[in-house]
Amino acid sequence: MIKKFIRKVLGLKEAGPQRVPRSRHGIDRNRISPAALKTCAALHEAGFSAYVVGGAVRDLLLGATPKDYDVATNARPEQVKPLFRRALLIGRRFRIVHVVIGQETVEVSTFRAADDGSAEKDEHGRVLRDNVFGTQQEDARRRDFSVNALYYDPASEEVIDFHGGLADLKKRTMRLIGDPETRYREDPVRMLRAVRLAAKLGLSIESSSRAPIKKLARLIENVPPARLFDEMLKLLMSGHASACLRRLRDEGLSKGLLPLLDVILNQPLGERFVTLALAQTDERVKTDRPVSPAFLFAALLWHEVLAASKAHEKRGERPALALEAAMDEVLETQCEKLAITRKLTATMREVWGMQSRFEQRSGLRPYRLLESPRFRMAYDFLALRAASGEVPEELEAWWRSFQFADAETREAMLQPDTGPAKKRRRKRKKRPSGPGGGEAESSPE
Ligand code: ATP
Ligand code: MG
Repeated sequence: MIKKFIRKVLGLKEAGPQRVPRSRHGIDRNRISPAALKTCAALHEAGFSAYVVGGAVRDLLLGATPKDYDVATNARPEQVKPLFRRALLIGRRFRIVHVVIGQETVEVSTFRAADDGSAEKDEHGRVLRDNVFGTQQEDARRRDFSVNALYYDPASEEVIDFHGGLADLKKRTMRLIGDPETRYREDPVRMLRAVRLAAKLGLSIESSSRAPIKKLARLIENVPPARLFDEMLKLLMSGHASACLRRLRDEGLSKGLLPLLDVILNQPLGERFVTLALAQTDERVKTDRPVSPAFLFAALLWHEVLAASKAHEKRGERPALALEAAMDEVLETQCEKLAITRKLTATMREVWGMQSRFEQRSGLRPYRLLESPRFRMAYDFLALRAASGEVPEELEAWWRSFQFADAETREAMLQPDTGPAKKRRRKRKKRPSGPGGGEAESSPE
């Protein structure tokens, strides 16, 4: 209790907030989402304080368009909910309110206390529970980086800066609030956030915040796999996936996430393949085209699957069974660290499993493949394999034409039935009716 009191007093002393007027921070109120403004106004009217906080303020100050809006308030979740027509209480550990206005969802959270030493932790210092409400000042302290602890008050148009976030943004640097090592231990995901946000926003990580990462990288292993998956998805869908992964590698963080990523990137074909997949994804995100996480994860792990499959084939297994075993192995290893959802792994298996079927270009098989609901994704995957030099360009070109060709052209494109057809011929030869090979399919070539 006394400790808490002293820390509170020290906390007050060490970080007096700066109230920065519009003329100095330059955020234009009109650029803020109407839903976020309405949410703050309703809370104000009910007598509470309410601020736009976190990534949205940071992005506005950098001249970027925020992805979503968070609002922080001194109102408790149960006081927030009745103020809005469409509001949902979510979260078990720390309840927040999702306020839905029009097409937008604003996340409203009550000021939360920073760790005062009493939070439940694991043996590495990871906070297991931190569900205590607090003051605005405490809320600022528990945030990760100074640039993420800026509060914008739409009523006064002031930015409230507890930890020098405005100055850091000017320097284009990210600095952890408090002692970096302790903060990373409390939540190792902060190391990934540092890398992701720095890559996305073109900021540097200030040296004392960067220094402990190498040493603490292994703590990522203690993070629940579902949380890692969420963070990894954010990273891959950020539009800066290539830059993020490169930085993760440089900081020694890639192993904990995709344990085999380093191995993959060290194979010439694998590296080219992954680099292409990431570049393509970034391009799609930047041009607002949809991106499939399943496709991306399938691409990231493809060369692992190939290597494992070859190993099984060497032991004498049939290719189809070898592939099955390889997919099981790779997904099992990866899902230990990263809880890739079942829905996603099912799609990844389909896409991987369909690849060998592209080599069959005779009879009815190409038509059946074309009808598969996953054809598009599997074909895009084939195109990536061709672009990386793994399969002949000619194969991809054939499928590119075949899928859009008319019936007659398709028929003409088919290749002679080789494998199974031979068997049939052999059987026919055994028939007493003599050499009746007339039924053999004619070659279109
Ligand atoms: P973006 O939404 O662009 O990915 P963001 O900073 O808004 O970035 P969110 O996950 O939306 O990220 O989090 C909102 C805010 O919550 C952050 O700006 C930060 O203040 C705080 N926050 C998020 N994650 C953490 C964390 N692991 N530790 C401390 N504070 C965090
Ligand atoms: Mg955000």
